[in-house]
Amino acid sequence: MKAAMLYGIKDLRIEDVPKPEVGAGEVLVKVKAATTCGTDLKIFQRGYVEKVIKLPTVFGHEWAGEVAEVGSGLEWPHKGMRVRAGNSAPCLRCVMCQKGKYNLCENMIWLWGAYAEYIKVPARMVLVNMQEIPLHVSYEEAAITEPLACVLHGVEEARVKLGDTVAIIGAGPIGLLHLLTVKKLGAEKAIIIDLVDERLSFAEKLGADETINAGKEDAAEKVRKITSGYGADVVIEAIGLPKTWEQALTLVRKGGTVLEFGGCPPGTEIKVNTEMLHYGEITVLGAFHATPLHFRKALRLIASRIIDVKPLITRKMRLDEIKEAFQMLVTSKNEIKIAIIP
Ligand SMILES: [Zn+2]
Ligand SMILES: [Zn+2]
Repeated sequence: MKAAMLYGIKDLRIEDVPKPEVGAGEVLVKVKAATTCGTDLKIFQRGYVEKVIKLPTVFGHEWAGEVAEVGSGLEWPHKGMRVRAGNSAPCLRCVMCQKGKYNLCENMIWLWGAYAEYIKVPARMVLVNMQEIPLHVSYEEAAITEPLACVLHGVEEARVKLGDTVAIIGAGPIGLLHLLTVKKLGAEKAIIIDLVDERLSFAEKLGADETINAGKEDAAEKVRKITSGYGADVVIEAIGLPKTWEQALTLVRKGGTVLEFGGCPPGTEIKVNTEMLHYGEITVLGAFHATPLHFRKALRLIASRIIDVKPLITRKMRLDEIKEAFQMLVTSKNEIKIAIIP
């Protein structure tokens, strides 16, 4: 079968690799769509933490497809079923899992290899993180279950409430998914901050109430102007840079919450003003990944169109065009997510 292999920074090649063999409890899925993701783009551009991904590797983690083979011992799913799965499966046994923090599982398994004709889903993932896709939901929409699950976990941690003003830094796919979600949660105003005008006008089309180009105007000043001088109730950082993590702290009101959502390069640190944290009672929190429950909820929200993810797919390309797709994501200001159709 054909699969995209990542050899190093910006070194992505389509290769013929053996089609995976299915063992007991495992499922082979014919990939029908795989969507590009900010994490993939980061890995493509600057490499990644060795713990999570070892090179060379099959690549891509957001996908949906049709069950091609079912390993022995499984009553579900059946051949031909439309499914999505992964990209993670917690062990359910470690201390973190026992505390209900499945996203922080000590023995998490991760699944890569979405940019391929077939993907093999490990037995544990079949059990805890695979879902059937309703017929009216397209494969490319279902592939977006993973990032939406992470966003649902994030807004849950940040406790976004009806009537809140939420400032979101970053108008990439993750920032935009936050935007769609906080609007559904009843945010009175969603403010999107980015450096690219094209992305900001896209955010406006998706329902952003205010946009700020932080390269042209002072974001903190403008957020204060919008919020009668107080700052946002909740600020969400959706970029993953120490600079924007610190910027997030300047946009929040007293007693407000800052969700540092974007993963920064390893070893980086930020400065926090102690006075602001203490006298201003600011809550600063991180959120990583999602639990199997968030994945289930995300697919249901996509299926019911409560969160309409379709507009985020700005282009469809073939598997053998994957390198061009990633180059396009690096250079173009208008692409949000590209669906790769093998
Ligand atoms: Zn992703
Ligand atoms: Zn665990």
